[in-house]
Amino acid sequence: MIGIGTILTGISTTISTAQKAYDLSKQMNNLELKEVIMELKEELLEIRSKVMQLKEESDALKEQAKIKEDLSRLKLVDEVLVDPENAGIVYCVKCREDNGKKSVMTESSADIKYSKAKQYECKTCGHAAKPYHLNFTGY
Ligand SMILES: [Zn+2]
Repeated sequence: MIGIGTILTGISTTISTAQKAYDLSKQMNNLELKEVIMELKEELLEIRSKVMQLKEESDALKEQAKIKEDLSRLKLVDEVLVDPENAGIVYCVKCREDNGKKSVMTESSADIKYSKAKQYECKTCGHAAKPYHLNFTGY
């Protein structure tokens, strides 16, 4: 598969070639040729900018797919998500459902005195949960 980076390199090389042709046409004092080559160069610059845009979109999609795959690995325990391969970190179920995001939840000590379960709070959306069955040694 040809990468977008390879295409961009090819376009840049072609732009340099167009620049050389432009310089030659200037030396030849051929106004018509100069204008055509200038147009060619401008079109190439436009193509390059569109390809760069495509690359950005493609990178964003790849990143989204990676996050989605990553999120699908997480296990639901009560109201939080845990990573079976990386115990000790709790993720927000609301952020996954609403935005497909992987947001870390932090322990909030507010309720510890009155309850055996720790309370967790999402840094991103503020969602709070008390996973009574969360036992990191078991995952
Ligand atoms: Zn959240």
